[in-house]
Amino acid sequence: MKVLFAASEGTPFAKSGGLADVIGSLPKAMRELGVDARVVLPKYEEIPDNFRHKMKPIYRTTVPVGWRNQYCGVEYLEYNGVPFYFIDNEYYFKRPGLYGYGDEAERYAFFCRAVLEIIPHINFKPHVIHSHDWHTGMVSPLLKAHYSKDPFYKGMGTVFTIHNLRYQGVFPREVLADLLDLDDSYFTADKLEFYGKVNFMKGGVVFSDVINTVSKSYAEEIKTPYFGENLDGLLSYRSKDLYGIVNGIDYSEFNPYTDPHIFYPYDSKSLEIKAKNKMELQRNHGLPVSEKIPLTAIISRLTSQKGIDLIARVLEEILSMEGQLIVLGAGDEQYEHLFKDAAWRHPDKLAINIMYDEKLAHQIYSGADLILMPSQFEPCGLGQLIAMSYGTIPIVRETGGLKDTVVPYNEQTGEGNGFTFTNYNAHDMLYTIERAYKYYQQPVWKKLQEKTMSIDYSWKESAKQYQELYQKTQ
Ligand code: ADP
Repeated sequence: MKVLFAASEGTPFAKSGGLADVIGSLPKAMRELGVDARVVLPKYEEIPDNFRHKMKPIYRTTVPVGWRNQYCGVEYLEYNGVPFYFIDNEYYFKRPGLYGYGDEAERYAFFCRAVLEIIPHINFKPHVIHSHDWHTGMVSPLLKAHYSKDPFYKGMGTVFTIHNLRYQGVFPREVLADLLDLDDSYFTADKLEFYGKVNFMKGGVVFSDVINTVSKSYAEEIKTPYFGENLDGLLSYRSKDLYGIVNGIDYSEFNPYTDPHIFYPYDSKSLEIKAKNKMELQRNHGLPVSEKIPLTAIISRLTSQKGIDLIARVLEEILSMEGQLIVLGAGDEQYEHLFKDAAWRHPDKLAINIMYDEKLAHQIYSGADLILMPSQFEPCGLGQLIAMSYGTIPIVRETGGLKDTVVPYNEQTGEGNGFTFTNYNAHDMLYTIERAYKYYQQPVWKKLQEKTMSIDYSWKESAKQYQELYQKTQ
């Protein structure tokens, strides 16, 4: 089985969130199962020089983008045994950062078309094209519209994975003709039309053979109006082709015993060393250094999805408890301001890092006692999985993948691997934090840590489920 992944980001090349972690680790896990998985990514300016210098140009062509023909280079690099192809076009991708420009429709229309155009020239004919989120949502519709008559593409299956339904790539009607070479027959409610506009995510959902999202609970949730982001009707309609497969993590990257970013390596047998990481973290953040004070981390995009409104509502109460908080995140200005203001008033309780920093994230995962993820919705969530591999206990709201991966601790039975609450309610969250802090002082804490570190959150099981998904398209 040969599978070509098409995505807008992937570690270690370019990352803005969990999608990149998946693209950086799932193909490797698929290859371990014998699937020839390869990846196409944009060649962003953002990609570190050490990788850019190693890339080998293998092909160049032009790609139609509406009435234009745009240059497209293909560069190749093998990383961790996985072949990566990079689409090179400096006009579209030689810019700082990944997203946030006014011409996203054009950039990713180009990218989707480029993925399809280069396949006959890279000496790799996939059985399945596996696209991810709205940026690559147009791969399946374009395959159908422009390539289905070409015998080379005959029988090529398509899988589309929804990593976050909130971001859909919705653009004016004109992009259809102007960027995608599609006529008005595609502008109907059963195809690409969405409230008078064109929706790239919808394109992936309508035109792909099989669809999935990144946890079982989220796959159910998105069929309801609350989580469905106005696509719940369509997703219900496609529900027999809609699956939920929980994300895994790559333990070669998130392993406290081998992690080069953290201060002191440890494993579940040497948890006393984790405390040394904590104290280093406290020292570096100007917090009182003490093993005894529970330290909670927030490592997150600062957006409403992540439940920052709940934290805002009871931040003073959280900071009046006998505990410390370290925040690593960037995002909406109002939330950045919230934390900056509180840190200024409570320097001995709250330390903030308003930035994106991979190395610091690892140090916090290893040094914190708890990670707080009170998300409003969460397709899968990787923070809680990463945290648990470092013996850092999650406090989460029971939604989506958080619900599927964190079992509430039950003091009667000893069951569970974290602390959870159900309703999107600030005081329920506060009570859950208080409860976690209470157990932090008890011997059961170490048992909880050992347990979370022993659970297998690798890709092993989920990769098998993807393999079955690919077979369904054939
Ligand atoms: P999402 O994809 O919605 O942002 P996930 O929990 O699926 O959320 O994945 C987030 C990923 O990004 C995790 O690997 C997390 O550690 C990382 N991350 C989030 N914010 C930061 C940050 N400010 N600095 C470094 N890493 C971050």
